[in-house]
Amino acid sequence: MSKQDKAPETLLEAVTYFADADVAFEFVKSLRWSDGPICPGCDSDSVAQLSTRKTFKCRSCKKQFSIKVGTIFEDSPISLSKWLPAMWLIVNCKNGVSSYELARAIKVTQKTAWFMLHRIRLAMQSDDFMMSGEVEVDETFIGGLARNMHADKRRAKIKGTGGMGKTAVLGVLERHGKGGSKVRAGVIANRKRKTLHGKIRKTVEPGSEVHTDALASYSGLAPDYTHHVIDHAEEYVRGNVHTNGIENFWSLLKRGLKGTYVSVEPFHLFRYIDEQAFRFNFRKLDDGGRFLAACSRIIGRRLTYQQLIGETV
Ligand SMILES: [Zn+2]
Repeated sequence: MSKQDKAPETLLEAVTYFADADVAFEFVKSLRWSDGPICPGCDSDSVAQLSTRKTFKCRSCKKQFSIKVGTIFEDSPISLSKWLPAMWLIVNCKNGVSSYELARAIKVTQKTAWFMLHRIRLAMQSDDFMMSGEVEVDETFIGGLARNMHADKRRAKIKGTGGMGKTAVLGVLERHGKGGSKVRAGVIANRKRKTLHGKIRKTVEPGSEVHTDALASYSGLAPDYTHHVIDHAEEYVRGNVHTNGIENFWSLLKRGLKGTYVSVEPFHLFRYIDEQAFRFNFRKLDDGGRFLAACSRIIGRRLTYQQLIGETV
């Protein structure tokens, strides 16, 4: 950030700030290589910058490379002046941003915007981390009939049908005092005991307190965990036994899916879940902080169009 000292705090400031291609370039450069550029080919730090063309040349292996190599921007012809405001938008809009909205906002085609959004979601994807202490676990269904149903009806319908035509999602929330909880969520193949137990064991430290509803698949978590069950047929809260934290996350996720992403194919659903989980986990930050949190994760993540549409390369 050489040209301007003050980091942007609002969308408008971000657009103005990054409109200067040199500023956007320097911003990503300092993000990637705080101690100077490193060659992605041979890890040499003997790198020259061909200043006029904003490219780098390795003195050791002689390769030339761009600032975008090895990031979510790799091979993209879209300028950083558009990428960075696009990131700002998606990490800070509560219900997300549709590809149509983004296309209009930064003047790219809808297809390009769709691809950009998925790459940004990749940066928003959580690293694996273990949870401990007080943890809530719950499953929900996304899509199909359930989307337009009243909550109580939906619950009855889903428990009855086992979620036919819908995608099952498992969420795990670690409680942390006043609203500082963190969530991890993802698509699951089914709600069978083996599936749920497998996910829980991969996500929650043994010895933790696990709160679930009365679904039979959760039984047997003891003695590895202290298992607290809240039977929603009878009550929703008993002391500190409840799943309200994760249910709150489900309502945020569903609001976004219903309002902004009207049709999401099950194949892509996990990316929207990652997006909402990112905003949830960084909700205590201001917009600028959330943007920087996403920016710090653009490196080492790459998504090609073929991967995105499910073709093996
Ligand atoms: Zn090199």
